[in-house]
Amino acid sequence: MTSNKLLIIGTMAYDGLETPFGKADRILGGAAVYGALAASQFNINCGIVSVIGNDFEESDLQVLRSRGIDLEGVEAVENGKTFFWKGKYHNDLNTRTTIETQLNVLETFNPVVPHNFQKADIVLLANLDPSVQLKTLEQIGSQPKLVILDTMNFWIENTPEVLFKVMGLTDVISINDEEARQLTEEYSLVKAAKKIHQMGPRYVIIKKGEHGALLFHEKNVFCIPALPLEDVFDPTGAGDSFAGGFAGYLTQTGNISFEQMKIAMIYGSALASFTVEKFGTENLIAVSKEELAQRIETFKNLTQFEIELI
Ligand code: AMP
Repeated sequence: MTSNKLLIIGTMAYDGLETPFGKADRILGGAAVYGALAASQFNINCGIVSVIGNDFEESDLQVLRSRGIDLEGVEAVENGKTFFWKGKYHNDLNTRTTIETQLNVLETFNPVVPHNFQKADIVLLANLDPSVQLKTLEQIGSQPKLVILDTMNFWIENTPEVLFKVMGLTDVISINDEEARQLTEEYSLVKAAKKIHQMGPRYVIIKKGEHGALLFHEKNVFCIPALPLEDVFDPTGAGDSFAGGFAGYLTQTGNISFEQMKIAMIYGSALASFTVEKFGTENLIAVSKEELAQRIETFKNLTQFEIELI
């Protein structure tokens, strides 16, 4: 095992999902779960800081352990109930409504970063209460190479002040177009990215669902499409898989240049494309290194062209 360390802080959850193609009452989910599963495709040392209740299935923990994910930083609360989220997707699958958010054990969670991860190379603050993200960051000993932040409308609406504090300590933010507009009150994503830069993050990633993603840094903009897929079954966890793949790739290479971030975005996007093809974490768990490599190749062919100006 390599010593390149990625620490992921985020929810471990059970989700209730409704899409035009089916329904699930309670399946494994959570931002840290999707993120770590995606990151486990890389040759890195990946650990999670999170909290679960005693209703969390041992078999689900085993799935994560079997991928080499370190769970020392996961607190199990006796007589507690795991975070639960229920969402419903609309017909275009690009928009969804949150029906229920039960914070449960998250409400009183005090994160503890295991000694082994206090010098993580990269920290991914996956979707979670910003005050928990902040408490975790405070325990990171030396300055990590990169702090990456993902958040959600729930926290933008409910805890904006703490969220702004976390943004001030963040190098890269990864959010979707709707959240970027909500955060900045700007319709233009270029203007929104500029405003977000001023809030802290030097790199701003704006995800646009099936329309791909943009990376803004200083005067540079990079854009990738999403892979056109025949079957999109359940978009849950696409953003987290993207962030996990992005962070996992950069942790493995150890190089955090803008050029490497472009490639990291391709990996993130490829992993997200697997997630959405089946319900919950099913496909992300099953994907092999060869299948991932093939998908990266497809991506390359999709976006490469030569042009001679006339
Ligand atoms: P995504 O589709 O990438 O935005 O992430 C979906 C995952 O985020 C689900 O598995 C949920 O368990 C989790 N989630 C939903 N709401 C929240 C929230 N307010 N904070 C943290 N995680 C959440």
